Amino acid sequence: MESTAIIRKTPADWRVPPNFRDYAAERQRFDWHAVAGRLSGPAGFNIGWAATDRWLESDRAGKTAFRFLAAGQPPKEMTYAELARQTNRFANVLRQLGCTPGTVVFVLAERIPELYVSVLGGLKCGCVVSPLFSAFGPEPIATRINLGAGRVLVTTDLLYERKVAQWRETMPTLEHVLLVAADGGQTAVPGTLDFASLMATASEAAVGVSTAPEDLALLHFTSGTTGTPKGAMHVQEAMLTHWATGYYALDLHVDDVFWCTADPGWVTGMSYGIIAPLLHGVTSIIDREEFDAERWYGILQEQHVTVWYTAPTAVRMLMKAGAEVAQRYRFPALRFIASVGEPLNPEAVWWGKEVLGLPIHDNWWQTETGGIMIANTPAFDIKPGSMGRPLPGVEAAIVARHEDGSVSVIDTPNTEGELALKRGWPSMFRGYLNNEERYRKCFAGDWYLTGDLAKRDADGYYWFVGRLDDVIKSAGHLIGPFEVESALMEHPAVAEAGVIGKPDPVVGEMVKAFVSLKKGWEDSEALRRELLAHARKKLGAAVAPKEIAILPSLPRTRSGKIMRRLLKARELGLPEGDTSTLEGGA
Ligand code: AMP
Repeated sequence: MESTAIIRKTPADWRVPPNFRDYAAERQRFDWHAVAGRLSGPAGFNIGWAATDRWLESDRAGKTAFRFLAAGQPPKEMTYAELARQTNRFANVLRQLGCTPGTVVFVLAERIPELYVSVLGGLKCGCVVSPLFSAFGPEPIATRINLGAGRVLVTTDLLYERKVAQWRETMPTLEHVLLVAADGGQTAVPGTLDFASLMATASEAAVGVSTAPEDLALLHFTSGTTGTPKGAMHVQEAMLTHWATGYYALDLHVDDVFWCTADPGWVTGMSYGIIAPLLHGVTSIIDREEFDAERWYGILQEQHVTVWYTAPTAVRMLMKAGAEVAQRYRFPALRFIASVGEPLNPEAVWWGKEVLGLPIHDNWWQTETGGIMIANTPAFDIKPGSMGRPLPGVEAAIVARHEDGSVSVIDTPNTEGELALKRGWPSMFRGYLNNEERYRKCFAGDWYLTGDLAKRDADGYYWFVGRLDDVIKSAGHLIGPFEVESALMEHPAVAEAGVIGKPDPVVGEMVKAFVSLKKGWEDSEALRRELLAHARKKLGAAVAPKEIAILPSLPRTRSGKIMRRLLKARELGLPEGDTSTLEGGA
């Protein structure tokens, strides 16, 4: 099969008329203000209100907003009306605890109903909600809560015991910890409050907070090459992008059953696992369990999923499980599949078409953009391997950076450069928490510089080339090498550490660490295993290295920085490139 072949679309491919059909005209007609009118109400401009109460006077009040699935349990439905009531209760709980607009509320839980209620209730209360991935270890959790000066944490009794309790004193800003009992009952853990009891006595009346479009709403931590994680700040009006991209990129229609497989601990699971589908009043499937090919096909079939938003790693894991597994299932309801987070190889796009009956539509965005920017959508041809074209309301370009900090737009098609976006879309991040300098450096004039290398072809399709920095994308999750290196350095045997992303056919990149040892320590298999266990305990399974190599010393620049680039080149047997800055080098 030719991976460069184009997948042509005709109206015969549409199961319903797509929302986005005339590329040029829709982009020209598009106006963010027109979207704004749909979403504001008595709570001002508030994501929590627009996602829930906005439907109360409509026929959607009684419709299922979320269907929660968990192994061995019957599905749990929550209607829009119920979600509105529960989120009001939680907003009142926060109010009683003294939270005011701007208070930072962290959530750390598996995909359980209380997580969704907490996020939306927090937003209704005007709080800034920050999600933590439940597979993080104690260190990434504490680092983020401290950076965000979190005052409230909502988590489960089990996660608290394993990942927070022992480290509680290291988080001085944390005033209230609310625990959800794993067994559905009540908790009685010293120094914490019981979520269920607080909810039971809270009022269902609207909390009476009104927020403005530019009020802070969400804090998403993301990783850079160096330093601590960066808190990307998003405002209430980000929901304009969530609505518009739900409409154009995910093609949501009112009768859809939508399944976003991303965890709300990451930006995709927040923007598209929670906000966008609710803004469109559709039914979302939330599965608590981890990936399992049979389970996932079963969900697509039994839940009659119509629109499915997933990730390249998941698609590759399904491919690995074999087409015969897929063939035991039928997906007559499924009409659109999209994916995000890492490069989607052309084979995966074709695999979707052949095995599931629908190609996978790649799209591109990042934590900082808050929502989908570039996408393949139902009506338009797909060039497998391309991320698609900019959506209405988004202006993209390929640019070259100059030494004076300015950029120039590269108009010649198929030329590599940095992917840039014209500032002004509503879900653009408004800053990195406490790091104005780093934020400023992301912009050149009107252009936001994404840190990704890409090309645009003559038809306006964008092609991902690579990252400009050393961050690692593993199973779609962005991992900062510095955070991993710091955890390794805390082990008494480690003198220096360098961490890279090693290409992996399934998860994209796998975290690999290189360390050298302090005097008196010997390289051994037992020590290697101990270091892996140490990192896993501190960082959690999602971030910890999967491989570790012990070297006599690590390559450093003359200024003392570990050369990850060189470690990677050596690991992959690639040319070492310019080593003139290597310590002791030429
Ligand atoms: P995050 O902020 O964790 O969402 O990561 C964003 C980064 O993931 C982007 O800057 C890209 O490097 C990568 N990424 C996201 N979507 C795609 C895609 N469709 N193709 C290639 N890389 C992607």
